[in-house]
Amino acid sequence: MENTELTLLEMIGSVYEDLDTDKIEERFVELVNDMFHFDRVALFFLKHRKQVLQGKLSRGFPPGMIENTEIPIKNDSIIARPLITGIPVRISPDDPDQQVGLLGLANSVLVPIVNKKRIPCWEIKNCNQPGCPAYGRKWLRCWLVPGTKCGGEAVDSLDEKAVRCPACPIFASFNIDAIEGVLVADNSISKRPITEDIITLVSVIAHTVGMAINNSKIYMKTLDVAIRDSLTSLHNRRYFNERLLDEVERAGRYGDSLSLIMCDIDHFKRINDNYGHPVGDEVLRWLAEILRKGLRKSDVISRYGGEEFAAILSNASREQALAISEKLRRSIEEYPFVHRESRISVTLSFGISTFGIDSKKFEGLIESADKALYKAKAQGRNMVCTP
Ligand code: GH3
Ligand code: MG
Ligand code: MG
Repeated sequence: MENTELTLLEMIGSVYEDLDTDKIEERFVELVNDMFHFDRVALFFLKHRKQVLQGKLSRGFPPGMIENTEIPIKNDSIIARPLITGIPVRISPDDPDQQVGLLGLANSVLVPIVNKKRIPCWEIKNCNQPGCPAYGRKWLRCWLVPGTKCGGEAVDSLDEKAVRCPACPIFASFNIDAIEGVLVADNSISKRPITEDIITLVSVIAHTVGMAINNSKIYMKTLDVAIRDSLTSLHNRRYFNERLLDEVERAGRYGDSLSLIMCDIDHFKRINDNYGHPVGDEVLRWLAEILRKGLRKSDVISRYGGEEFAAILSNASREQALAISEKLRRSIEEYPFVHRESRISVTLSFGISTFGIDSKKFEGLIESADKALYKAKAQGRNMVCTP
């Protein structure tokens, strides 16, 4: 086997080793760099509901240049063109494009990163063209392969494909939703030519990477679903417990402070009884949002039980946890939940426990916060207590 083929196999294999999108992208850029020795490489991805191409990674460009570049797709920049056509696009020195000028692209190619499954055109069209370079090769996308014999006629160059392929039904089933971004491969400095063979090879790799990115996104989403409560999107109890175990160990090892908040809606049963269960659900979602906004991003907030929430406040002393809880308690008390014309008053009782004061153990911290919460309920509700 040729060295290039081995490298290619290794490259594709290694892209699939990671399930983390960022790592897949980094590896892609690194490997394209190692294999083709382009002067410069940049990766752009779609964001903002696919309205903008955002620079993400680069090699050879000044630091931050690509990473700070945003290209609105509607501006008709040539860089966004592979998103529309799905076909690699060459950039030549006389392309009058502002972005191209800014990035100094004169001898470059733009390759779409696609996550759509490959379509064996020859199977669908039932054509029998053994001489066609795409015929029988399931791993190739016909619109990327120069010299395919569509309807018996050879379509040679990528430029010709860019004109002809969009009218083909095989290609039409392919849309912007299937495109993740664009790879810019550039040889403007050395002026080394970028051959059609290289473009085809990079395109095939970019498609594989697109699929790997798509799989990683599905995986990350599944992970996220597994650790969240479906009603409020807060973390679930299982995740909360896992994180608390970690945080307790960290606090023990490094002497960091750590506090726990447990809170429970007062007389929630009445809200359900008076307004119905769906309104009760709305109240739970509304409270989850207040807790999310009132606590730090780094705090783990969970729906611990039916109408009970719990939060891990890392690096928070007892005084800080008390102050934060009191602020939350007051803001909930002051702003009633509005349902149609009714203003429904909702209050919460809070229990706090702190590492090193109440306990240095996972179970002890939970028990203490629970005890404190029980105390708040017993003393009249709508208050913050320590054990
Ligand atoms: P207390 O002040 O003592 O906590 O009184 P409470 O009424 O809040 O407590 P109780 O434990 O008697 O009732 C809790 C209620 O929370 C009963 C249950 O139906 C309701 N609940 C639990 N989970 C959900 C949910 O997901 N949606 C709705 N709407 N209600 C829920
Ligand atoms: Mg309650
Ligand atoms: Mg309860």
